[in-house]
Amino acid sequence: MPRYEFSKKVRREADERSGGRCEALGEIYGLEPGQRCNAPFKAGAKEFDHFPVPATEKGSDTLDNCVVCCPTCHAHKTRTFDIPVQAKVKRVSDKHRGIRPASKWGSGTRQKAEPQRSATRRIEKWSLLS
Ligand SMILES: [Zn+2]
Repeated sequence: MPRYEFSKKVRREADERSGGRCEALGEIYGLEPGQRCNAPFKAGAKEFDHFPVPATEKGSDTLDNCVVCCPTCHAHKTRTFDIPVQAKVKRVSDKHRGIRPASKWGSGTRQKAEPQRSATRRIEKWSLLS
């Protein structure tokens, strides 16, 4: 998936806007609702976050969508906001693999028979209902 990174110009303007202090705001960054972090940036410890439009979406690389934040705030958002979405996708695929254990059936032809059986069961259930 492409990421729309901020241009140097946007970063510089966002940097000036921040006044050298963390712009993270509200619960999504682990703060109180409406509260701004305001932590002064240590040398180099400054991150440019995409919010509210995620970096993967076109048009997210604007000054309005750029939040200059400290590593603490950025890490909180990544942990609680960005990662759960990815982790959920991973859990689903793990579960999916568990349905068809390759070792149990041995050959590839046996594995193919499994979905057909469950489809037949579903048809039987429907004919009982009608
Ligand atoms: Zn912060």
